[in-house]
Amino acid sequence: MSEGLRKEQLSRSAFEEAKQYIPGGVNSPVRAFKSVGLTPIYMDRGEGSRVYDIDGNSFIDYVGSWGPLIMGHAHPEVVEALKETAEKGTSFGAPTLLETEMAKLVCERVPSIEVVRMVNSGTEATMSAIRLARGYTGRSKIIKFEGSYHGHADSLLIKAGSGIATLGLPDSPGVPETVAANTIAVPYNDLESIQLAFERFGEEIAAVIVEPVAGNMGVVPPAEGFLEGLRKLTSDYGSLLIFDEVMTGFRVGLHSAQGRYNVTPDLTCLGKVIGGGLPVGAYGGKREIMEQIAPAGPIYQAGTLSGNPLAMAAGYTTLKLLTPEVYDRLERLGARLQAGIEQGAKEFGIPMSVNRVGSMVCPFFTDTPVVNFDTAKTSDLDMFRRYFALMIQEGISVPPSQFEGMFISGVHTEQDIDATIEACTQAFRSL
Ligand code: PMP
Repeated sequence: MSEGLRKEQLSRSAFEEAKQYIPGGVNSPVRAFKSVGLTPIYMDRGEGSRVYDIDGNSFIDYVGSWGPLIMGHAHPEVVEALKETAEKGTSFGAPTLLETEMAKLVCERVPSIEVVRMVNSGTEATMSAIRLARGYTGRSKIIKFEGSYHGHADSLLIKAGSGIATLGLPDSPGVPETVAANTIAVPYNDLESIQLAFERFGEEIAAVIVEPVAGNMGVVPPAEGFLEGLRKLTSDYGSLLIFDEVMTGFRVGLHSAQGRYNVTPDLTCLGKVIGGGLPVGAYGGKREIMEQIAPAGPIYQAGTLSGNPLAMAAGYTTLKLLTPEVYDRLERLGARLQAGIEQGAKEFGIPMSVNRVGSMVCPFFTDTPVVNFDTAKTSDLDMFRRYFALMIQEGISVPPSQFEGMFISGVHTEQDIDATIEACTQAFRSL
């Protein structure tokens, strides 16, 4: 698309109109492109690795709806499953066979999950898992990591990443002090800090919630021994270990991050990929803990549309498409993209640390190795903004934030990756 300027007239007027009826014009903050100072791009359709906007521009897409679309846009099998399911009715509020099929598949694939409850978003999954952990342990405090994002439930909006980091917002107004006081935030990958927190508050800590690969401060892999250390500390103090795998679940491997790193949490939160592009979340884990949830037990959690047939159909079909070969391919494409970005940055003297786990790839504009939120913030955000604008101009859709990773799908081709490396290299030349 580099010939001539990208057209954006229709997106501009669409955004102006939306602002009159929707707060900030969008239904989720980062979509507004505020931190990159551009007009959001209104999408018309997607197919495979590409998206097409309402002005007629096309992009190779690495947003993938922020993670769910691991098999690309409008995958024919997913679309077919949706059509077939919709024809039989879109929602019943009664159990369906598809829900059990889906639960069975999740239990088979995710090592720690014996029983799983479907909800409608990642936020609901983490919020419910926290309530369960508190109810089960009879304790109130939780530990999370600075720059991690676990959705927007009150007790988790403390020192959060994702859009909060992107927009440079402080902890959110509207979260009562009394709620915030029960959340302890410590630096990611820092076992010493968490050890101190346990020494001080051990008997009060219901759970540690962690993204086993952090994806909301940009992508940050767990340091060697970090997840194992969390497992040991939580077990020693009788707290639960919750893996928030909303982003990493079925993204970083067939058995999710817990399979990849071989650490078994007590509870796991899922979302994104398991919905195949429809609104889904889930939480699951040990039977003994999960059966504290109503109606099996006293801890309440419910949902009018939970286990919705369309969502189950899209998610189930997507999970069935995910074979070991797909993950091998994602690994190869990820490595190719990482090497290409690193090479381009080196050629033009751009400060750069690329973090990657499988198909989650994140170029940080810094020479400092990025291991936590503080080091992620050493990235040159002005340079990121200029890079983002150049990538969009070149027809590559990357997340409009330094604190989010790129997602490769199983339908990206080697040519897509090479075109992306070429665009990056062009951008680095101009920076
Ligand atoms: N946990 C993690 C790790 C996430 O990345 C996200 C969303 N990016 C959430 C929870 C919240 O999920 P949702 O946006 O579906 O509520």
